[in-house]
Amino acid sequence: MHSTSPLVILRVALPVPLRQLFDYIAADTLITAKPGMRVEVPFGRRIMVGVIVELDDKSEYPADKLATLISFPDEGQTVLSNETLGLLKWCWRYYKHAPGEVVFNALPPLLRKIDGRIPPPPTQYKLTAAGDDRLTEPPGRIKAQIRLLDEMRAGPANESQLRSLSSTWRKTLSRLMEQDWVRSEPQQPARLNPLQGPELLDEQQHAVDAIGNTFGSFHCHLLDGITGSGKTEVYLCLLEQVLKQGGQALLLVPEIGLTPQLLSRFKKRLGFEPVVTHSGLSEGRRLKAWAMAKSGLARLVIGTRSALFLPMPDLQLIILDEEHDASFKQQDGFRYSSRDVAVKRAAGLGVPVVLGTATPSLETFNNAANDRYSWHRLRQRATGAAEPGWRVLDLVQQTMSGGISSTAMKAIGQTLDRGEQALVFLNRRGYAPVILCHECGWHAACQRCDANMTWHMATRKLLCHHCDNSARVPDMCPQCGADALQGAGEGTEQLEQILAKAFPATPLLRFDRDTVRRKGEFERLSKQVKSGESCLLVGTQMLAKGHHFPQVTLVVIVNLDQALYSADFRALERMGQLMVQVAGRAGRDKLPGEVILQTHYPQHESLLTLLSSGYEAFAAAICKDRQTACLPPFSYQALLRSDAHDKDQVRAFLNQAKQCFPAGEAVVYGPFPAMMERRSGRTRWYLLAQANTRSPLHRQLDMWVEQLKNLPSARKVRWSVDVDPQDY
Ligand code: ADP
Ligand code: ZN
Ligand code: ZN
Repeated sequence: MHSTSPLVILRVALPVPLRQLFDYIAADTLITAKPGMRVEVPFGRRIMVGVIVELDDKSEYPADKLATLISFPDEGQTVLSNETLGLLKWCWRYYKHAPGEVVFNALPPLLRKIDGRIPPPPTQYKLTAAGDDRLTEPPGRIKAQIRLLDEMRAGPANESQLRSLSSTWRKTLSRLMEQDWVRSEPQQPARLNPLQGPELLDEQQHAVDAIGNTFGSFHCHLLDGITGSGKTEVYLCLLEQVLKQGGQALLLVPEIGLTPQLLSRFKKRLGFEPVVTHSGLSEGRRLKAWAMAKSGLARLVIGTRSALFLPMPDLQLIILDEEHDASFKQQDGFRYSSRDVAVKRAAGLGVPVVLGTATPSLETFNNAANDRYSWHRLRQRATGAAEPGWRVLDLVQQTMSGGISSTAMKAIGQTLDRGEQALVFLNRRGYAPVILCHECGWHAACQRCDANMTWHMATRKLLCHHCDNSARVPDMCPQCGADALQGAGEGTEQLEQILAKAFPATPLLRFDRDTVRRKGEFERLSKQVKSGESCLLVGTQMLAKGHHFPQVTLVVIVNLDQALYSADFRALERMGQLMVQVAGRAGRDKLPGEVILQTHYPQHESLLTLLSSGYEAFAAAICKDRQTACLPPFSYQALLRSDAHDKDQVRAFLNQAKQCFPAGEAVVYGPFPAMMERRSGRTRWYLLAQANTRSPLHRQLDMWVEQLKNLPSARKVRWSVDVDPQDY
């Protein structure tokens, strides 16, 4: 090096699965390198886009071995703030994951690409004087144009407003601009224009006051409110306060919680359109949402898991709705809990975080019980409705038709006769979970997974719900040739048939991933339910989440017995949550509700506690069991997961890995086969590391990962670390 200026080393995160950062030399350009900027750099024979994480004046590699950066694609702009970078750094250390994958996970997909660019500031559109004049004339044949003009009558309109008017809005808009009826200008921040909400109940008011008192400092709140207790109303009051002060707020919801119903409620109450983002949006729209958040134009962002990493310079409040929901944990690649990272982000920013749910996860429950979180209970339904009553049916004493007992059938009939709605819940889609031969016992198993193929009658297919495998339903037994194939057990498709036969005059709506595949279908079905006419709803957990169907007065839970004696220690907790959430759909309005639970184990202790004393007592009881068994949240776990086509290679790797687990308080167990050992043709096993306190576990994990990288057997398998695992 002959340069006289001091050496600037860029430490760069690249989207590769290696647990390291990469050093580059800054080029002589007019742009001063800053952490958070994207860079184009050579990597092997390729050119890649990366993000600067740190600057340094030295490298552990000699300067003549380092490559020089090629360019800054975003000129002087950063894509990550220091705040987000700090959070991501914490994430890759805590979750022991490759830094580049963690950083790239936080970027909108288009900015992960080398030719992706930060979009120009968003624009809004307003009427010119000529456009105003045009509106006074009769519309004539250009109704689409008039509709757009009309939208701008009250003031400038942004793209998302115009998009909602027509699918060809862009073409129409450019016509309007050619005519000089409309002009564009930089978009202004949305103005808060809240509608008066209902008068809060005392419990709601206390929660709003207590949470409001912690604005400006880090504090964790558990908003523990039964279904229909008005949690959303509490969020709205808090959001209004934050937005009034000019702050930004972030509301995270579960994957299927993001319904137009919820959005229109927020829009109506707050008087502006929140920015929405989730992985189902086009890459272009995700980039726009990202840019809106970063510029501060988005005052409120509502999104799923990944929205947690959005740049929001004025972020003052984070809310996680349905905090217990499993979709908050990312289950592949960079495995993280968005609940835990949200708490970390709030701590770093010095702002409160609200975790709302009717059924707290045991982790959150335990934190609240130990006063690490403030616990706000809402125990009354806001509409004044009573909580539904339970009726437990012992299946041993029942005559059944296709999974539904005659008693439940009778109750459904009575509900429909009264002109009300009934909901039948079964968490299994398809016609039957197994198809088998009555002659020889053959059954259809997935060739690639340890799972049966589910029979879907309408599409005449056998589907594996764990991989993409599908096959035609055979006409006769492929093993013995007999014409004796039949389903065993029921799925929602079969329930629908049985109920349609029993109640031929009643409209029947099925909600599951097979029927609600098309966009807008869920909305169409919900609308029909909300119209209030007597009908029957059949569905999976899609029906369990947050929907307000006022005319549903009976809920039948067909079967949750599997969870009662599952090998997974979290199964019971999840069952309790699901039961309470599903039951919460009954009797939400004026009419009283009833829940019928069909079970073979009416004397199961946890079930009895849940039914007689409610979720809080149930959670307290299983918490105690977990404490006795030293299970989370009373211990800390991490898994070393590994998979490959060849089982021997997986076991060889894990056995070697176990040998080099560093000594300390944390102990390593295994190798164990995963609950589903074979999936998509790969054999999956894991080691479990566990300790009673967190820090020794993490110290040992850090040392361990360094050694694992160098194990020769590691090259023959896929492996990853899963900190705070949720499934096994
Ligand atoms: P949750 O989010 O806890 O399920 P919601 O906020 O959706 O509950 O409230 C349930 C219903 O009660 C909604 O229809 C809502 O408009 C209504 N509601 C909420 N708070 C009040 C209140 N203080 N007074 C009257 N109705 C309310
Ligand atoms: Zn057979
Ligand atoms: Zn499969």
